[in-house]
Amino acid sequence: MKAALRNGIKKVDVIEMEKPEPQANEVLIAVKSCGICGSDIVRIQEDNPKWDKIVLGHEFAGEIVAVGEGVEGWNVGDRASAAPLMPCMKCDKCAQGNYSLCKSYSFIGSRVQGAFGEFLRVPARNLVAIGDLSYDQAAFIEPITVCLHPILRLENLLGKDVVVTGAGTIGLLAIQIFKAMGCREIVASDISDGKLEMARAMGATIVCNPMKEPLEEVCERELEDGAHVVFESSGAAPAKISAINVAKGRGKILLVGTSHAPITFTGPEFERISRQELEVIGSWMNYSAPFPGAEWTTAVWMMEAGLINVDPLKTHTFPIEQIQDAYDVIYKNEELWAKVMINF
Ligand SMILES: [Zn+2]
Ligand SMILES: [Zn+2]
Repeated sequence: MKAALRNGIKKVDVIEMEKPEPQANEVLIAVKSCGICGSDIVRIQEDNPKWDKIVLGHEFAGEIVAVGEGVEGWNVGDRASAAPLMPCMKCDKCAQGNYSLCKSYSFIGSRVQGAFGEFLRVPARNLVAIGDLSYDQAAFIEPITVCLHPILRLENLLGKDVVVTGAGTIGLLAIQIFKAMGCREIVASDISDGKLEMARAMGATIVCNPMKEPLEEVCERELEDGAHVVFESSGAAPAKISAINVAKGRGKILLVGTSHAPITFTGPEFERISRQELEVIGSWMNYSAPFPGAEWTTAVWMMEAGLINVDPLKTHTFPIEQIQDAYDVIYKNEELWAKVMINF
């Protein structure tokens, strides 16, 4: 089978690999669509030879082509997506349903072979039914669950003002979820005007390019009393600082984006957390009990119900043979891109 394997930093070769066989309680999926995740981009760029040995890709959907021993409820020909985390299911964290915190986990596309290959072994309990969604749409289930994981911990947001920092795929999906939840003002901030245009199309009511005007000033002018919720998806240090600055008293800050540079708060900025009694909520991955969790069924339902439209987020599609071109779109960053999709 064909699979994409890194061959040094930022270089990906499409090679022939042995087709895997499903073991007990697993199915074999013929991958049809797999999105490139921000974390794949980090892995492709990292100076670490381990990424030359593992097929990446964990936002995928495909068709079941073989079923291992002991699998119930899934058949050859079924269309499915799957949760990529394989928690140990034995530790205290797993017993409590906090699968993201499991220390003895495996992960499709970073610890075992991922979905930038034609065929993929998946534990049956990780499978997610995709109804009538297209394979490309179903490849968005995983990023939607990343948004839903912290948002499902929130209370009613009807009529509340929210801020989303970062208008990449995750931010653009979060905007649609906040719109579906009946938020009043949805402020989107990003340093790309093109992304802000997409944010508006997804339901943002106010947009802010912090290179032109600080988010703090926009929120001061446009919001009655700051943000009830700030969803930080950019990972950028200035956005994390602004997130704390624009939250209203007792507001919640959802930290979803990952940071790769130091973040320096002034004393008064950091102290806002105490003085304004802010709740800073960390969020990692996308799981809850019963595994893989309500995030996954809710993501499918939101797309089926028309509450989330992922089609405009898919800015580029490449066949697996051209995956290098797909990564190059991202590295060059010359054209507007959100989700870059690989098809088989
Ligand atoms: Zn991802
Ligand atoms: Zn565990």
